[in-house]
Amino acid sequence: MKCPRCDQEMATQLKGQGADAFEVDTCAACNGIWLDAEELNKMDDNLFVSVEEISYSPAAADESDNTLVCPRCDKPMDKVHPEQFSDVVVDNCPECKGFWLDAGELDKMKDISDQLLIQSLTE
Ligand SMILES: [Zn+2]
Ligand SMILES: [Zn+2]
Repeated sequence: MKCPRCDQEMATQLKGQGADAFEVDTCAACNGIWLDAEELNKMDDNLFVSVEEISYSPAAADESDNTLVCPRCDKPMDKVHPEQFSDVVVDNCPECKGFWLDAGELDKMKDISDQLLIQSLTE
């Protein structure tokens, strides 16, 4: 599978450990990560809060950032951000529901997941 940003062949990387381990496709050139919808489910075990349960809103169009094409379906992806966190914009494929995370965005998603978990505990 090719990186939607640099068109380079991506490498498969194992994340997590033991039964929770799952494979993701990463680009060595830009350090972006492609997550299939099912990989996101597996990641939920590590994130504690379901990433898919996070509500996403369409992100404001940013002229400097081109629309990426889904490496799986060849369809233009939507730019979305978690409802309460407009500073983290990720690319989501409307067709296969896969996510493209640029370098560092996975860590931001983990932070958001942590914050949502804390919110859910203190509500
Ligand atoms: Zn890349
Ligand atoms: Zn797709």
